[in-house]
Amino acid sequence: MTIQIKDSSLLKTQAFIDGQWVDGDNGETFAVTDPATGEHLADIASVGAAETRRAIAAAERAMAEWKTLPAKSRSDVLEKWHQLIIENSEDLAIIMTAEQGKTLSESRGEVAYGASFVKWFAEEGKRVYGDIIPTPSDRRGVVVKQPVGVVAAITPWNFPNAMITRKAGPALAVGCAIVLKPAAETPLSALALVELANRAGLPTGLFSVLPGSDAPAIGGEMTANPTVKKVTFTGSTPVGKLLMKQCADSVKRTSMELGGNAPVIIFDDADLDIAVAGALTAKYRNSGQTCICANRLLVQEGIYDAFVEKFSAAVSEFRIGNGFAAETTHGPVITEKAAKEIHSKVENAVAEGATVVIGGQPGEQGACFYQPTVLTDVTDTMRVFREEIFGPVAPVFKFSTEADAVRMANDTEFGLAAYIYTESMGRSWRVSEAIDYGMVGVNETAISSEVIPFGGVKESGQGREGSKYGLDDYLETKYICFGALQR
Ligand code: ADP
Repeated sequence: MTIQIKDSSLLKTQAFIDGQWVDGDNGETFAVTDPATGEHLADIASVGAAETRRAIAAAERAMAEWKTLPAKSRSDVLEKWHQLIIENSEDLAIIMTAEQGKTLSESRGEVAYGASFVKWFAEEGKRVYGDIIPTPSDRRGVVVKQPVGVVAAITPWNFPNAMITRKAGPALAVGCAIVLKPAAETPLSALALVELANRAGLPTGLFSVLPGSDAPAIGGEMTANPTVKKVTFTGSTPVGKLLMKQCADSVKRTSMELGGNAPVIIFDDADLDIAVAGALTAKYRNSGQTCICANRLLVQEGIYDAFVEKFSAAVSEFRIGNGFAAETTHGPVITEKAAKEIHSKVENAVAEGATVVIGGQPGEQGACFYQPTVLTDVTDTMRVFREEIFGPVAPVFKFSTEADAVRMANDTEFGLAAYIYTESMGRSWRVSEAIDYGMVGVNETAISSEVIPFGGVKESGQGREGSKYGLDDYLETKYICFGALQR
């Protein structure tokens, strides 16, 4: 492997099942490549349903004791895991940039963000409280919270570290075991994380990682296996829907963090500089590949021209390239297929009358690059309005009234994140409450952290990750009735 890091024993190419590094049963592997260079990085063991079944059985065995430990004991292991992630953060960031493409500074940021979930839930796991309910008769109702059971997690490639810790952190903290299928594009980050969890002293079998190129085989077993009580997924809406259907047969609980179509609504009374800076971050972070990335810039007519000018001028300063190069501001997109898909949305917009202000073409740096793009003269019939772009393309739509903005913002089946720029307090409240989104940023697009409830409404999913609410997704509510109190 050509990835140069301090501790090369973090570079794992096998699956981690029941505390052992193993090959897939049939010896198959799949390749991981660097999207910036096309360079082959590693061949990773590819597992299927049988290995997934064994991991789930091991999880059930391991959980039997783990769930009975005092929360403090579980917390101690998570604290150690957190410490190891921090100590190895530069190695983890290098692995991430190599397999995912984002700039090294973005990778460092993600590793810190990912670690923050482990720390947060190590603390929060000690605060799983219940209730005592005074009942109408000679009884007392007691409510206790218990771990939901074995959890299966499926994670995407855009945040190869944090999407894992955001699920494993709360699951492990409350006493669950977890089996994880990372995205086939970015398994190295997942395998390094589980190696560190193992070094932290996580009991054997409690956390298995199942890399594989046959996602339906692994996902099929996860959703059909009766031992799995909960499936947590971050990824596309079509796959989320499929997994929910598969989970229906055994009535599993699900948490779904799916696609978005985030509007950034910029009113005439906004502070232009703050709005431009926020929109730039929201649109181009991770080269446009986050589920809360600005998908539609909705700008009021009075500020529209000034906004487009300032925004495009800033975009023209971007330097796309290899995420390891110091001058690079934005890395490649994940695959050539993704770059082509982004271009097809731009072509659709242009064919329907959009104007390319800047960009609009694949990048010359390699097959996975796409130029940072700004489009005007865009309409709500175009794919860039209707679909998640997941790339560095900013369509800037014009609106007249606040009511128009709210209508346009809500004109989508998605409902993850939205952003509003205005100096009016009344408008901030009115619009925040009128738009159907799980998260709203007012004069701010950097809304994520471990302390807030991240999640969406409508077809963007269900459940919340992070914050005190993030524990609920891994807990069952049990009511115990104590009677005959006067005896
Ligand atoms: P993206 O378009 O971002 O790759 P996907 O929803 O396809 O989003 O992928 C997110 C995760 O879901 C990845 O780990 C992928 O391997 C997995 N996945 C894709 N299809 C299935 C499936 N049919 N069953 C289970 N997991 C799947």
